[in-house]
Amino acid sequence: MTIGLAERVIALKPSASIGAKQKVLELQATGKTVIDLTIGEPDLDTPAHIVSAATSAAEGGDTHYTVPMGTPALRKAIIEKLRRDNTLDYALNEVIVGVGAKQLIYEAFAATLNKGDEVIVPAPYWVSYPDIATIHDGRPIIVPCPEGNGFKLTPEALRTAISPRTKWLVLNSPNNPTGAVYSREDLSALAEVLRGSPHVSVMTDEIYEHLTYEGKALSLGEVAPDLKDRLLIINGVSKAYAMTGWRIGYAAGPAALIAAMNKLIGQSTSCASSVSQAAAAAALSGDQACVAEATKTFRKRRDRMFELLDGTPGMDIRKPEGAFYFYPSVAGLIGKCTPDGKVLTSDLDVSLYLLDGAHVAVLDGGAYGMSPYLRMSFGGAMEDIEAGCRAIRKACEALV
Ligand code: PMP
Repeated sequence: MTIGLAERVIALKPSASIGAKQKVLELQATGKTVIDLTIGEPDLDTPAHIVSAATSAAEGGDTHYTVPMGTPALRKAIIEKLRRDNTLDYALNEVIVGVGAKQLIYEAFAATLNKGDEVIVPAPYWVSYPDIATIHDGRPIIVPCPEGNGFKLTPEALRTAISPRTKWLVLNSPNNPTGAVYSREDLSALAEVLRGSPHVSVMTDEIYEHLTYEGKALSLGEVAPDLKDRLLIINGVSKAYAMTGWRIGYAAGPAALIAAMNKLIGQSTSCASSVSQAAAAAALSGDQACVAEATKTFRKRRDRMFELLDGTPGMDIRKPEGAFYFYPSVAGLIGKCTPDGKVLTSDLDVSLYLLDGAHVAVLDGGAYGMSPYLRMSFGGAMEDIEAGCRAIRKACEALV
């Protein structure tokens, strides 16, 4: 007899990006050189002033449980950040700290979804939203957002997707995987639809907020302050400050929802690491030059990746406005034949061909809810980007 698993876990897919990382590590362990363009994090080091804030916290005895919501010092830093960057006003009981933004998405759905409640997820989407909604008995309603509209949700598509059971709309700007950034006009038009559906709340995932290349990303709350009562902002320090391993995210929203999430955190992780919280407070309230510097680095990598991939046969590539991913269409590669005589029938086939034939790991668009596309990260080192893009181009040229 083995220990029986719950139905909700048996039905759950493993995270595509975490699975890809595992596959790359396995191949590398067999001695193969694999260039990894799947990575969902910056390769940069956490800035020194942030690390030293953590060291001081640990040495100064800041090594105990904190309250589940997060230390007052970090929550104050979050409130100040929301005021400074987003002109939004939140009180101490309206912000909460989690073990990464991911935990807060998890707790928000856990706190609000009843069986069959619907969560509108515009596609392409970050892989975890539908799965986390499903774990909590929610019903993801996937709304395709074609490339023709810059991969963005239109007011018409939102209106059609809303039903009496809709609980949440999830908006992610800048977007993973497409890099799309919603403009003020885009957000205003969506806000107008939301005004007509007061039962719909909006989770805005702003984790890539600072990584934009064509102007600033806006929060829906800035554009439509009247929606504040049904808005949950999700953000964190992982991407902007190269702090993925520190595991600190935060959310801002109505006090009653934050209190419910607080209860859940109190019964799951108890709190995020005290030392990481001290580091995150230093990140949010310290010198922001490191963020501008990181964005400059990513912009260079983005431009280089575009230069090297543009014109690759069968690949239709556009420059992302934010985050650190390209999401080219590979419609022109479907139906092509590999040098081994295999016909490529899907974007998953294309990604497997690139892994086997070019030793470059990329993710298939299917994992992000829209095919045939590939997601290619420029979060990693320039040498890897250059070698990876050259190998991809060569592999595409070898198809007949
Ligand atoms: N949202 C999006 C869109 C992401 O890409 C990620 C990380 N891949 C997260 C949330 C989670 O970030 P973290 O848990 O590290 O704060």
